[in-house]
Amino acid sequence: MSIVENLKKIQKSIPKSVTLVAVSKTKPVEDILEAYQAGQRVFGENKIQEMSQKFQELPKDIEWHMIGHLQSNKVKYMAEFVHLIHGVDSFKTLKEINKQALKHNRVIDCLLQLKIAKEDTKFGLSIKDIEALLISDELKKLSNINIKGFMGMASFVDDEKIIRSEFNTLKEYFNKLEKRTTANFNPSIISMGMSGDYKIAIEEGSTMVRVGSAIFGSRNYN
Ligand SMILES: *Cc1c(COP(=O)(O)O)cnc(C)c1O
Repeated sequence: MSIVENLKKIQKSIPKSVTLVAVSKTKPVEDILEAYQAGQRVFGENKIQEMSQKFQELPKDIEWHMIGHLQSNKVKYMAEFVHLIHGVDSFKTLKEINKQALKHNRVIDCLLQLKIAKEDTKFGLSIKDIEALLISDELKKLSNINIKGFMGMASFVDDEKIIRSEFNTLKEYFNKLEKRTTANFNPSIISMGMSGDYKIAIEEGSTMVRVGSAIFGSRNYN
């Protein structure tokens, strides 16, 4: 099937209230344009330099989402245009995003990455880390970021029960924290679900899915 056919099929299978982030990492601008011409405006990348190259070449009404693990020293390359940063998992990175956002006189929206997978390899904060972050005075000083919710990745396993329970954990954390709104903490987004598990994620309360290979085809590298 073509990119457009894949995209239409996925759009039809998800509720209107769920945002589809089309993950275009490693794919050429031609592929992104195909999806763009079919109406898709939200794209996700996992490498800052690749995203900023694509930003320069493509229409300016695209919303670029950074979904990969962040290196603080590269935040400056996307501070001008990034729409949402999904994978924030340290105070140091939040501080750097705030600093770069300030330079561009903007407020950058972020999601905190929560560690929900049992596997050791995944990045992310624990619920305890987040609770400590939320009561820190230092966080309150960061007026050029807005934390809009949470992102999580389930274990790479076939067992649907495990995946479902990890997504459910993220939803429960969200429920627990959503009322603790502050000036720069306004959770409304739960970013969870990829090509293989987005349907389960939506059933478990996802509001934003990050789908790559089911739209653009498989990748040779990540
Ligand atoms: C690559 C990637 C995706 C998309 O993966 P697919 O399995 O191709 O849908 C989603 N989220 C993150 C963080 C990724 O790095």
